[in-house]
Amino acid sequence: MNREVLKEKKRIVIKIGSSSLTHEQTGNLNLAKMEKLVRVLTDLRNQGKEVVLVSSGAIAVGREAVGIKEKPKKTSVKQACAAVGQAKLMMVYQKLFAEYNQLTAQILMTKYTMINDISRKNARDTFEELLTLGVIPIVNENDTVSTDELEFGDNDTLSAIVTALIQGDILILLSDIDGLYTDDPHKNPEANFIEYVETIDESLEAMGKGSNSMVGTGGMATKISAARIATNSGADMVIANGDKVSVITKIMNGENIGTLFQAHKDEKFKLINYISTKQYSR
Ligand code: GLU
Repeated sequence: MNREVLKEKKRIVIKIGSSSLTHEQTGNLNLAKMEKLVRVLTDLRNQGKEVVLVSSGAIAVGREAVGIKEKPKKTSVKQACAAVGQAKLMMVYQKLFAEYNQLTAQILMTKYTMINDISRKNARDTFEELLTLGVIPIVNENDTVSTDELEFGDNDTLSAIVTALIQGDILILLSDIDGLYTDDPHKNPEANFIEYVETIDESLEAMGKGSNSMVGTGGMATKISAARIATNSGADMVIANGDKVSVITKIMNGENIGTLFQAHKDEKFKLINYISTKQYSR
């Protein structure tokens, strides 16, 4: 597929994970990187694109703020951390976006938002309105209220669902690896990089799970599942290394970076059935 077509994409969803937003050594926010991210996203807006950011980090930032070193196991602790962290995260985003006079909005979702017909319509209408107003919606799971039965569990899935909901043209997943490999590149030096995926078949899904699991090295299984949702709903999806946020600009300029999953809208794909039946776990 000629990547030049990506230049024409108008409605862009970008997902960034906690590990890309924080310093590995301390867990504190990487402000220099967030600043760059904000500049790149505002510049896309300035080109007339519509931009949605799906940002993780609520729990990580909250933990750091209240001084909890270990990943919390207890749900109420996790939720309290998310409540503290989400507000802090938004404060930083709003401060940085304000430098460029770019408005942002917070949208917090649970699985219920999607499964309930009225909530889903309300969410979609709100996204539409915000994008018309030129606002960049910043989305996360509502970790403060969502428990196991209610949660998407990971923002790869959430970002694909948001892309499907608003009929986005492209989803960019910024990860801590360069894209999809035939095997875990940390363990197998023979692993080959996959630049382009035309259709997601069983062998590809097996690559994400199976014995050669890459789950521990960037959650490849959830990314392939996200790709299924995004591509079936008519969006292209790119997995790229979020180490440098300038990759976003490069991808949108048609450069051959990361793994591209090609869109192929499938009218038979029923998003709500897929969400209701799939089990997610953190
Ligand atoms: N919603 C979670 C948070 O903000 C992150 C989920 C994920 O890392 O995918 O902490």
